[in-house]
Amino acid sequence: MEFEPVIGLEVHAQLLTKSKIFCSCSSAFGASPNQNTCPVCLGLPGVLPVLNRQVVHFAIKAALALNCAIQKKSIWARKNYFYPDLPKGYQISQYEEPLALGGWLDVPIDGKNKRVQLTRIHMEEDAGKLLHEHGDETVSHVDLNRAGVPLIEIVSEPEIRSAAEAAEYLRQMRSILRYCGVCDGNMDEGSMRCDANVSIRPVGSEKFGTKVELKNMNSFKFVEKAIEYEIERQKAAIAAGEKIVQETRLWDSKRGVTESMRSKEQAHDYRYFPDPDLVPLLVDEKWIEFVKKEMPELAPARAARFAREYQIPEYDAQVLTVEKTMADYFEEAVKAYPAGPKKISNWIMTELLRELKNGGIEIEQSKISPRQIAKLIELIDSGSISGKIAKTVFEEMFQTGKDAEAIIKEKNLVQVSDTGSIEKVIDAVIAANPKQLEQYRSGKDKLFGFFVGQVMKEMKGQGNPTVVNELLKKKLSS
Ligand code: ADP
Ligand code: ZN
Ligand code: MG
Repeated sequence: MEFEPVIGLEVHAQLLTKSKIFCSCSSAFGASPNQNTCPVCLGLPGVLPVLNRQVVHFAIKAALALNCAIQKKSIWARKNYFYPDLPKGYQISQYEEPLALGGWLDVPIDGKNKRVQLTRIHMEEDAGKLLHEHGDETVSHVDLNRAGVPLIEIVSEPEIRSAAEAAEYLRQMRSILRYCGVCDGNMDEGSMRCDANVSIRPVGSEKFGTKVELKNMNSFKFVEKAIEYEIERQKAAIAAGEKIVQETRLWDSKRGVTESMRSKEQAHDYRYFPDPDLVPLLVDEKWIEFVKKEMPELAPARAARFAREYQIPEYDAQVLTVEKTMADYFEEAVKAYPAGPKKISNWIMTELLRELKNGGIEIEQSKISPRQIAKLIELIDSGSISGKIAKTVFEEMFQTGKDAEAIIKEKNLVQVSDTGSIEKVIDAVIAANPKQLEQYRSGKDKLFGFFVGQVMKEMKGQGNPTVVNELLKKKLSS
């Protein structure tokens, strides 16, 4: 029997507020353990939560960007469970009445957009963290800096059909959240996390199979691998006559397998009820309109505008706009050298992206500014340096952050275009290769390339290729 995967994703995104959701502690990452805590986020008896307005603002912004319907009234709920990183014994979340319903995300797949419907977005507080990194396996340490950091949870409908689609969904989601400025999307630091729900069913069947929830995947690559593994595991289990049990499984990235963690708890295990410490949250039309006004141009709109305004291929426009920082970089470079959008796009998409990848850094950490890359391209266009030399110059710019002109001057890399000096080299090359000259003149056209190569070699790559070609043709045929 042939099976088809059914996948629904739950994304948790930490919001970029300065303080936590129900107290004024800093929500910054990286402080020393338990530095950012107070009686409220430590869950001491008698304290009361006070809602951070900015959390709601950011959550509305994300919900609007994801085409959701904002609920005028939503309710805070207590989700009760015991765990050492949750001092109150419950997490404040939203349950029956979340902030936003519906919505969708367009996911580019094989050159087309697949629209994945969303179920809901709600707000909640993050839990603390248990640390086991002190070499002593009998001890756990609790760090409550993260307790009370604001989160939104974005739940998709089970409409995703492959591991690759899931990874692309997450890339698009990250792009949108970053564009809106509500989440930094940093999966290493846990500011964007994903649980994947995976089941399989016979192709053609309407009924869903039993789902397994995968946790603990902190990169797009791991999400994709974990889902791939899980699909195959379920297929094999069914083929062996086993039943899939509803459970939570953890992805072990070292071994490349998912492992059962616990049987999946049901909603009633959490004994949800409205939090008596918090009044219902009311969001009026005015607030929604206010947030709409500050909505930035998002990636799809920006890609369409890039293609139209700068006359670059749609593919380029799409690659350049996935990250807001890269789109900003491109536009700044074009402003500095309006004559060459397509060339700027090429340099960013090939040279710059490659170096960034090799260096393992983001574009905002690049030592080459948009203005500098624009200048480099202008120098090629004006014939000061060849494209080949430019690549060497670029590498040095990337390492040092120096201007192209400074490097060209320092290393004496200016392109030689003057016919006198080029002719001299050509004469010498022809004189040194009489055999090839004879063969060329007797019809072996291919040898032209040989002569160009020799001349360029003599000139250390600095000869202007157009002039070299022209003069060579003349000299070889005379
Ligand atoms: P739970 O109550 O177990 O958390 P939900 O109905 O809230 O389940 O769904 C959680 C996530 O699981 C959603 O993203 C949803 O799309 C997905 N999902 C639900 N049923 C299935 C299924 N049979 N296979 C795969 N994913 C599913
Ligand atoms: Zn606090
Ligand atoms: Mg759920």
